[in-house]
Amino acid sequence: MSASILIIEDEEPIQILLKYNLEAEGYRVRSSAQGEDVAYLVSEERPDLILLDWMLPGISGIEVCRLVRAKPESRDIPIIMLTARSEEAEKVRGLATGADDYLVKPFSVPELLARIKTILRRLNPEAVAEKLNAGDLVVDRKSRRVNRGQRDINLSPTEFRLLEQLMQNPGRVYSRSQLLDTVWGRDAFVDERTVDVHVGRLRKSLSRGKELDPIRTVRSTGYAFDERFGKN
Ligand code: CA
Repeated sequence: MSASILIIEDEEPIQILLKYNLEAEGYRVRSSAQGEDVAYLVSEERPDLILLDWMLPGISGIEVCRLVRAKPESRDIPIIMLTARSEEAEKVRGLATGADDYLVKPFSVPELLARIKTILRRLNPEAVAEKLNAGDLVVDRKSRRVNRGQRDINLSPTEFRLLEQLMQNPGRVYSRSQLLDTVWGRDAFVDERTVDVHVGRLRKSLSRGKELDPIRTVRSTGYAFDERFGKN
């Protein structure tokens, strides 16, 4: 089961950016622009982590943080605060209110994703698996080693991230542009065909001779890790 993240953010472009990137990472995401919704959303389904904007139109991020911390059932949910630069002086107060971490806008998405992973790993080791397994294929995220049966597979850092991305959500189809954003980063100046080139190399490294190819090409859409791989 993938981790669930609740976003409370009133700036629509940021909310969309967060949702898009977190879903591409395989998280289940719910969002709201209203701090007042937090009690309802948390009772509907307890999130594994809350991303909370500081400045909200109704009750403030600090108030939301207090509400979450005041209830025994939500007290332990980690909170990452998003603050604007001008509010930096207030950070200490935010942390005193019980936020686990904070990021100043404009933040980098890879940085945010890294912080989320760190917190989830600390609080819920199962939420971010250290090893990804499918059939005879094992990806060790800690040592960054890949094995197929007894064979060590050497991948470039890009190919490793590509495999990791696809493999953490078997069956999920990623478009080339989604893979560019999550594997290469939003600012990378690379062509969508680059994705095809790297997927080609990845396939060559993963499958030799008659070994089954774990990656599925979805015509005119993109790529997926074959959810049936290793299951028959
Ligand atoms: Ca705001």
